[in-house]
Amino acid sequence: CGIVGYVGWRGAQEVLVNGLRRLEYRGYDSAGVSVVDGTGSLEVHRAAGPLDNLVAVLPEGGASDEPTGRGGTTGMGHTRWATHGPPTDRNAHPHQDATGKVAVVHNGIIENFAALRAELESEGVELASDTDTEVAAHLVARAFDAEPGAGLTGAVRAVVARLEGAFTLVFTHADRPDEIVAARRSSPLVVGVGEGEMFVASDVAAFIDHTREAVELGQDQIVTLTRDGAVVTDFHGDTAKTRPFHVDWDI
Ligand code: GLU
Repeated sequence: CGIVGYVGWRGAQEVLVNGLRRLEYRGYDSAGVSVVDGTGSLEVHRAAGPLDNLVAVLPEGGASDEPTGRGGTTGMGHTRWATHGPPTDRNAHPHQDATGKVAVVHNGIIENFAALRAELESEGVELASDTDTEVAAHLVARAFDAEPGAGLTGAVRAVVARLEGAFTLVFTHADRPDEIVAARRSSPLVVGVGEGEMFVASDVAAFIDHTREAVELGQDQIVTLTRDGAVVTDFHGDTAKTRPFHVDWDI
């Protein structure tokens, strides 16, 4: 339903929670955030119900969005509107692979998830949720390990080629703490361009408090974000055209 991602210099947790508050108007049944820190540890917190249920289980100290704030400076948040699996804590996003290194948030529906789940299960992977989303975390983790030279972007590109349906997917990897990779097909995705910080969201409202410089992604595109910029490619890996714009309305 609602997505926000951040890579920069502020404590990510606070940026993400504030971004999710800005997306609350869309409606949701659960929420979650994940943060990667410079030591390569990935922390996920999720809760069914209103955003305050999530805030209640978040660690203190990640709560400052000042540069001095503790905690990681890369992460993503999600408000879920369940389509596959009931609105429980364990079905809330972000979802992770079995090693816990990859995290994913997702809007939309992965239509062929049942076949992908069956394939993963036949290879001994234990799924931890009832969602259509979780398969994407396992598949990206496996693609990343299979071809480390292709990076997280290459792994995401390989996996989205196998997915059917409408989706926005955003990934982080604990081994790539300064990077976020997002992909979209028939589902909205905008990048927010800050100074030494970048945002990605389903809606500009999520980052309007920090920047009004935005880039709208086109159909079937992948964006790789670092704190210094965004590289946009299509699903084949070719450089893609984007539409930069200035958000001049008030929210
Ligand atoms: N299909 C996913 C789920 O049920 C994502 C739903 C959404 O767009 O929030 O978890």
